[in-house]
Amino acid sequence: MQQKISLKLLPSDAADEVAIIEKIAKATAKKTTEVSGYQLLKRSIDARGKTVWINLTLNAFINEPFHQRTLQKFDFKDVNNSSKKVIIIGGGPAGIFAALQLIELGIKPIILERGKEVRARRRDLAILNKEGIINPESNYCFGEGGAGTYSDGKLYTRSTKRGDINRILNLFVHFGADENILSDAHPHIGTNKLPAIITAMRTRILDCGGEFHFNKKVIDFILEKDKLKSVKTADGDVLTADSFILATGHSARDIFLLLHQKKIEIEAKGFALGVRIEHPQELINTIQYGREYGLTDLLPPASYSLVEQVDGRGVFSFCMCPGGIIAPASTNENELVVNGWSPSKRNNPFANSGMVVQTEIEDVIKYYSDRKNKSESDLQSPLLMMDFQKEVEQNAFAIGGGKFVAPAQRMVDFTEDKFSSSLPKCSYLPGINSALLKDVLPAFINDKLKKALKSFGKKMPAKNKHLGYFTNEAVLVATESRTSSPVRIPRDEDILHHPQIKNLFPCGEGAGYAGGIVSAAMDGERVANRLADLLMS
Ligand SMILES: Cc1cc2nc3c(=O)[nH]c(=O)nc-3n(C[C@H](O)[C@H](O)[C@H](O)COP(=O)(O)OP(=O)(O)OC[C@H]3O[C@@H](n4cnc5c(N)ncnc54)[C@H](O)[C@@H]3O)c2cc1C
Repeated sequence: MQQKISLKLLPSDAADEVAIIEKIAKATAKKTTEVSGYQLLKRSIDARGKTVWINLTLNAFINEPFHQRTLQKFDFKDVNNSSKKVIIIGGGPAGIFAALQLIELGIKPIILERGKEVRARRRDLAILNKEGIINPESNYCFGEGGAGTYSDGKLYTRSTKRGDINRILNLFVHFGADENILSDAHPHIGTNKLPAIITAMRTRILDCGGEFHFNKKVIDFILEKDKLKSVKTADGDVLTADSFILATGHSARDIFLLLHQKKIEIEAKGFALGVRIEHPQELINTIQYGREYGLTDLLPPASYSLVEQVDGRGVFSFCMCPGGIIAPASTNENELVVNGWSPSKRNNPFANSGMVVQTEIEDVIKYYSDRKNKSESDLQSPLLMMDFQKEVEQNAFAIGGGKFVAPAQRMVDFTEDKFSSSLPKCSYLPGINSALLKDVLPAFINDKLKKALKSFGKKMPAKNKHLGYFTNEAVLVATESRTSSPVRIPRDEDILHHPQIKNLFPCGEGAGYAGGIVSAAMDGERVANRLADLLMS
């Protein structure tokens, strides 16, 4: 017999297989010898009360032989002789998962990626971190696997209605991710493991007859009536296909500009802007787990999720990386953008998280109108939010002092507009420089952040002589600006093509339909499915 069981266990019991078997036996009124094993279906941590609990949902095998979970299988077809070709611009999660889905549907995908393959890309990241020199085509956002490759690899999404999350997680496992992502409530892969998984995906695409081209930056669209006939790449190639998926991510500003110049409709879109905050990981562990578990390794490095409404706008933590590193996620010289990642073990001594303020178009219009430095047509431009984002990033770069050294301030000092005479140790490799962040961020962001941080201090207070969240041991690093796309590329709600260009399918985060790896991957699959219906009808 197999029986689904929920258990609420102390961390020490949850880490001990014998203890789990005993708990199953007790819950089912059987002898331990009758329980042959269990499959873990879900695992979550409940650290809300005084005691930390681990909640497990299990499939227990009672009086029948145990067998491991059967993994989902996929049917990737040989598409060498496919009569239909789809060009996918951008080899991030949206582009790659669209390609894999097209192959399952028997259609040949051709991915054009401006950056390099994963291994070559790693060298460019090392130069950026060590020497402060950026390659605008190969960085944390551009290159094989997109922003997803050297990301944190958290696979948690709230976009449950947009597609089949389970299928995406199973595909990650199929290509080499640890099976525990199928049961963890907050699955995480880690930066060290993602490149091999992305390489395995590319290998399968090539083996099936798909194509994946690097250093192929699309710089022009050749239109014929209401269709995209071909795309031109920076090295002079002109490539034709039946349909095109545009999955270039939120940082491909040249693509937004190109669409605008070609009079292909795009819209300005709100995004969130702020800073990345770093605390010692031990401090976050102690706040979240208490003294008993905060300093043990029975529990994973703790995370947090904070949100507060301030003056009508959400201020929230974003992409929290326990045991992580703050990374320079810029794509251009003179623009400073930070983000975060962590290795699979999350064993760095710092906890970082974006802390951002929802920024709407009306906020930015008001900001520029007050300063009287933009024309009416600039204020109505679909590129308004992108230009604003760029301006803040350039300001951060200048105040940091160059070479991607980031402006930074201790947390309490920030709320008091006080210059930090010294800064704590920080994981951000290009380095940090003490600055007043009110000079980096517009006042309408700065003021909301200040209020929210004080309130977060109350939500995660100091206890038993241990520091709370609101402390000068934490450092704010500017600026977290690439939280989502500042532009939306419209598409037909049902058919998913661009309203003007009937064979162009905007897709993923850059087009405004995803925020994160899993939702971008799901959007890639969704677009591929819809496009296949049309091509095959
Ligand atoms: C450091 C970091 C950490 C992150 N951590 C997480 C996390 O833990 N969990 C999570 O869910 N999300 C995370 N993200 C965000 C996540 O990576 C993105 O949401 C996701 O990658 C978006 O997928 P996408 O395919 O839509 O776009 P992207 O991943 O941005 O891919 C777009 C691709 O298009 C290519 N491209 C752009 N322009 C052109 C052109 N003109 N021609 C050809 N190719 C082009 C780019 O080089 C890029 O490879 C992180 C991002 C960063 C930078």
